[in-house]
Amino acid sequence: MNIQFLGAAKEVTGSKHLITTPKGKKILLDCGMYQGKGLETDSLNRELGFEPSEIDYLILTHPHIDHSGLIPYIVKQGFDGIIFSTPAARDLCAIMLQDSANIQELDTKTFNKKRARQGLEAVEPIYTVSDAQKAMSYFVSLPYGKSFYLDEETTIRFTDNGHILGSATVVLSIKKEDDKIVKIAFSGDVGRYTKRILREPQVFEQADYIIMESTYGDREHSNIDQSEQELLRAVIDTCCKKKGKLLIPSFAIGRAQEIIFALNKLWEQGLLPMIDVYVDSPLSLNATNIMKLHDECFNDEMKAFMKTDPDPFGFEKLHYIQSTSESKQLNSTKIPCIIISASGMMEAGRIKHHIANNIENNRTTILSVGYCSPTTLGAKILRGDKYVSIFGSRYKVNAEIRRIDAYSAHADKNELLRYLSCQDKTKIKKLILVHGEEETQNNLAQTLQENGYENVYIPEKGAILEI
Ligand SMILES: [Zn+2]
Repeated sequence: MNIQFLGAAKEVTGSKHLITTPKGKKILLDCGMYQGKGLETDSLNRELGFEPSEIDYLILTHPHIDHSGLIPYIVKQGFDGIIFSTPAARDLCAIMLQDSANIQELDTKTFNKKRARQGLEAVEPIYTVSDAQKAMSYFVSLPYGKSFYLDEETTIRFTDNGHILGSATVVLSIKKEDDKIVKIAFSGDVGRYTKRILREPQVFEQADYIIMESTYGDREHSNIDQSEQELLRAVIDTCCKKKGKLLIPSFAIGRAQEIIFALNKLWEQGLLPMIDVYVDSPLSLNATNIMKLHDECFNDEMKAFMKTDPDPFGFEKLHYIQSTSESKQLNSTKIPCIIISASGMMEAGRIKHHIANNIENNRTTILSVGYCSPTTLGAKILRGDKYVSIFGSRYKVNAEIRRIDAYSAHADKNELLRYLSCQDKTKIKKLILVHGEEETQNNLAQTLQENGYENVYIPEKGAILEI
C-alpha cells in the first residue's frame, strides 16, 4: 500500500494525493487545479500523473477549485468511479465547477484570438460547461460523523473541519493483508476556531498517518474579535465621513457570506448607517442560497441567531445584483454605498470594473478581506503601487486602501496545533505536511517537532510513501 503526492506538495495549489490499497484499489484524495493563466499552468493541469479510468474512488474534502477544479477534466478523460463528498460540498461543487468551466472557455477564447494573430492553431479549453455538468452525476453525498463501507477493504468517515460550508477531514480505514487496519486522515483545508457561521474543526478519530495542510503553518492571524469593529469603521469613515463608496473585493463563496453576515449583525444591533449594500456577484448569490439550505453546518451561535433573524444573509438595505446592466448602473451612482464583489484578488469578475471606475476617486475605499497572490491586481494595490493597469489602461491610485486579514478561512500555526490535539501523538506513524510553501512547511515542521510530533514528513511532488 502506498500514497503518492501528486500536487500541493511544497506548494499551495493542485491538491491531489493517490492511495493504492493492498488490493490495488486506487483512491484519489482531492482533484485540484493549478490556478493561473498560461501554457505552463495549463500543462501542469493536463499532466495528471495517473490514469483517470483506473481511479475507483475520488474523495473530495471541499469544493475550492484548488481541490476540486480538475474533476470535469478527469471525467472527460475517462474517470468512471464514484466521487464522495458531503452534501453541502456537492451542492457548492455544482455551481463552482460550472463557474470554473465558464472561465476556462472564456480564457481559451481570448488566448486563441492571440494565437490566431500569430498564425497559430486554436487550442481546446481543458473542459467545458457541459463537462462540468456531466461530472455532477458521479457524486455520492455522505454526511458528517458516520462511517460507510466503500468496499470490503475500506471504510470512510467525514468530520467537519470548519473551513468552508461542507468541508471535511476524511479518515479512511483500510484493511491490510494481515487484516490489521491502517487509518489515514486527510485534513483537507483546516478552518478556524471562531464563532462565526460554521462549526469549529471537530475532533477526528485517531489515525496512523495524517496528511495535513500547512498554508499558514508559520503565521498567527490577528485577533478575530476586532474584525467587525474594523469593518464598521471602514463603513463610517468611507460612506458617512468621505461620502464615498466602500469596495470590498471578496471570494464569492465563504468570505462573501461572512461579510454579509457581519453587516447583518451590525444592522440588527442598530450600528450600521442607512447605507445601501450591494452584493454584485451572481456566484455569491447562488452560494448564499446553498448556504441557507445547509444549516446542518452552522454552529450553535448561528442557529441561536437565526431564531431571532431567520435570514442571516439578508436585511432591508442589502441588495443582490444579478444582471450586468444593474451592475453597470452602480458606476453612475454618486450616493455612498458598499459594494461586495468577486474576485477577492481583484484579478477578474465585476469587482475589476468597480475598481477601474472608482480607484482614482479619493472618496473611495478598497477594503481587502482576503489573501492576494503576488502577481495579482489586489497584491499590487495592497503593496501601495501609485499606478495600476486595469483592462490595459493606467489608473492613478487615489482611493484609500485598507485590509482586514482576520477573515482567513485557514487555521494558523496555533490552530493547526489545536486541530491535532485530539490525537495521541505517540500513535502517529507519520505526520505528512502538504499544501504549503516550502519555507512555511519547514517552520511548521520545527514547531511540530518542538511539540512532540516526531515523524514529520514533507513530500516532494511525485513522492511515494510506502505504508
Ligand atoms: Zn480551501
